[in-house]
Amino acid sequence: MNLRETSFGEFLKPSQIIFELKSKDKLEAIEELLDSLVKQKLITNKNLTLTRIIDRENLESTALGHGIAVPHARVDTEGQIAVAVGRSAEGIDFEAPDQKPVYLIILVIWNPSIPGLFNHLFAGLARFLIRPENRDRLFNARDKNELYSVLSEIQFSFPREDKIINRASLLKKLQDIEIRKRKAPKEMQKELQKQSDLIREELDASLLARFDLLMDRYGYAVAEVIDGVCQSCNLNISTQMASAIEGSNDIYVCENCGKYLISPRKKEKPAKEKEEKEKKEEKGKAGKERIEKSETEKIAAKAEKAKKAKASTKKKK
Ligand SMILES: [Zn+2]
Repeated sequence: MNLRETSFGEFLKPSQIIFELKSKDKLEAIEELLDSLVKQKLITNKNLTLTRIIDRENLESTALGHGIAVPHARVDTEGQIAVAVGRSAEGIDFEAPDQKPVYLIILVIWNPSIPGLFNHLFAGLARFLIRPENRDRLFNARDKNELYSVLSEIQFSFPREDKIINRASLLKKLQDIEIRKRKAPKEMQKELQKQSDLIREELDASLLARFDLLMDRYGYAVAEVIDGVCQSCNLNISTQMASAIEGSNDIYVCENCGKYLISPRKKEKPAKEKEEKEKKEEKGKAGKERIEKSETEKIAAKAEKAKKAKASTKKKK
């Protein structure tokens, strides 16, 4: 497979599209898509794959905003990559950054034997989906074949760019994890390393190499841009770059100090607050049990939420 000139049509067949998902809930929808991949023998280990996907979702929702989510996991697949697409007319709560429901789920499972594959694929998807006219065509597709033909158009070409699309929050999260890891007690190291590895799997090797270099040298690698000023070197960045960064989720590089530049996240979401709270708790009584407990609580809370949602839809009917 020549990665330089690929289209989404190469990975996707109409049989891998569910035009109307039965599921109304995030976890169920992901399972429904996985089941279809199992049926088509595109993946073999459903449970492992599901666990990986959920671990990744817990780290940060894979919803991109504008009604689209790209849940994903790196697992040994039969082939190099397995994708499934599901559409939901009603929309599914995916804890999206813009808090909008998700109408289109693009599930990607990729093989660890091809490093960087997902990063390329993701960049191609993000580049296509950022355009409102493309999203409209996807959302307005009248049937599976029409949806398939729009998705097939997505090109994966990999030009070198001065920005990395839609990965800023992920890189910031990696930095937070690496900083926490330095001070964390032994029993938390494993969990933090797991989270760090999960993020690293998705990012380009050259990006990570520079990130690690900056972390080693300065203790941090990512700086926010506030009012056009790099918060690391306190110098103004070009107005062109400043306006491009503002409010975006793209990563740039400061021409003065070489740090990765990102836009500060807008109003923090409740999920973020919860995370902050958890962080504080960890500082008090740190321990692996605590993390595990909070994970279990999260899953329990989700199951409860799903139940309620089901009950309420039943009531409506
Ligand atoms: Zn700077």
